[in-house]
Amino acid sequence: MDCKDTRNFLSLYMEDALDETAREQVAAHLACCAGCRREAEILLKSWEMLGELDEIEPNPFYVSRFYARLAQQRPWHAPWVDAIRSLFASRRLLPALTALCLVAVIGIGVLQVQLKNHEQERLALAHLDGQDMELLEWFELAENLELIHEIDFLCDLEIIQALDAVETS
Ligand SMILES: [Zn+2]
Repeated sequence: MDCKDTRNFLSLYMEDALDETAREQVAAHLACCAGCRREAEILLKSWEMLGELDEIEPNPFYVSRFYARLAQQRPWHAPWVDAIRSLFASRRLLPALTALCLVAVIGIGVLQVQLKNHEQERLALAHLDGQDMELLEWFELAENLELIHEIDFLCDLEIIQALDAVETS
């Protein structure tokens, strides 16, 4: 047995945990190798020093207290995640939630289009001066007037029809 093997077996040798053949080989090497004897002495001394230290008894509640403390340290978003998870976990609510999500998505889309249209309108009107605006208002008024005329026209028609009915009867 060489030095490397002997040193690997040293602690087992000193614990008397080797089989007879290995124990004899280590003993034979130690008898003729001063370096490994010195290594064995160092190992023995460090074991003795460790033995002098008081053994520390672990607190029996240490582990359970550790897990209890760990459970208390939840991130701020944990309650939200739990709530959302429990919502989606109930199959009864799933269709409603899906519909709600769909409505929200469509709503956002519509809102974006409206905002875009409003923005385009605003940009178009931004180029107009006071005179143009007045003209525009006149156009709107004219359109409305046309509508009013059409209504009048319809009224007239009804009146004429009614009159015709009276005359023919
Ligand atoms: Zn040796």
